[in-house]
Amino acid sequence: MLNISKTNTQDRGLEAVGEHERQGSYFYPLVFLVCASLRWRYICQNACLVILLPIALFACTGSNSSNSRADDKPQVVATSTIIADLAEEVGGDEIQLTGILQPGTDPHVYEPRPQDSRFLEEADLILYNGYNLEPGLIKLMNAAGTKARKLAVGEVAKPLQLDKGKGEVVPDPHVWGDVKNAIAMVNAIRDGLIKLSPEDKAEFTQNAQQLTTELQQLDSWITQQIQTIPPNKRKLVTTHDAFQYYGRAYRIPIAGTLIGISTEEQPSAQTVKQLVESIKKIGVSAIFAETTINPNLIQTVAQEAGVKLAPRQLYSDSIGAAESEGDTYSKMMAANTRSIVEALGGKYTPFPAETQKK
Ligand SMILES: [Zn+2]
Repeated sequence: MLNISKTNTQDRGLEAVGEHERQGSYFYPLVFLVCASLRWRYICQNACLVILLPIALFACTGSNSSNSRADDKPQVVATSTIIADLAEEVGGDEIQLTGILQPGTDPHVYEPRPQDSRFLEEADLILYNGYNLEPGLIKLMNAAGTKARKLAVGEVAKPLQLDKGKGEVVPDPHVWGDVKNAIAMVNAIRDGLIKLSPEDKAEFTQNAQQLTTELQQLDSWITQQIQTIPPNKRKLVTTHDAFQYYGRAYRIPIAGTLIGISTEEQPSAQTVKQLVESIKKIGVSAIFAETTINPNLIQTVAQEAGVKLAPRQLYSDSIGAAESEGDTYSKMMAANTRSIVEALGGKYTPFPAETQKK
């Protein structure tokens, strides 16, 4: 699991600078004043220099060396939590990874913070989803004067095209819903990291292979789990349109969504009414809230349509918080599958524990 605070090189850097300033600004003048008040100024000044200079130099060297260890590693920045998790698995200890989005944050409407520009400017490689999943960060990345190579990891998957009406067709960014796409993303991350740091090729290749094996097992397991849902109940109604790839890959049609592929759009009263009527007509047994979206409106839809709101929310555009059951990509996909299977009357069997490393 990615611990963002541990990988935040900026904060670590600031800490080191602060320490250096404290040593440089206060310690030497203080000793100097004490010496002066004892009227041994000239003797003491020389003594101070002899004693303190090596200490100061040692202190500087000490903090710089810990800094340079971190700086020696390639600086990789990932936008979404899903990509950060995959990159952490593939990059391991060989990279210094910073994930910008925090677990549970909605990438569609994320407004970059001031420090995000700095992360992007100082990166050697930026891994982002693309297909406009994270418009705020893509805009910032293109505006920032960054030396980094930029890799649209999600765009290695062939997109589903969604008609937004009025002739506007856009690619659906939620490609990770099909685990086979996530495997392609892992390969793209591996190749991007090898280009960045060729000497770590063996490590990246091995990590990617290990993760791919786990994802292949996950892919088969999800297929098998969804098949346990009675065919007439195999219909998915979610809060926003993030499960088209999942639905196609695992053969569970998307019967309706409250919001489109971007959560920027707010549903109209008319949309809500149509969804309620459609749910009543097609007869789904449960509908789903999502962890990155306020559940109030989908709750209202469930009440008005007289259906159950599934007790477990789906992880749509972000992995779960640390220690939650969805705190890695694999675990998020397994948790979603469990939520769907249990709410729609299937027979859930846990994803084999030995393949879940965390
Ligand atoms: Zn989304």
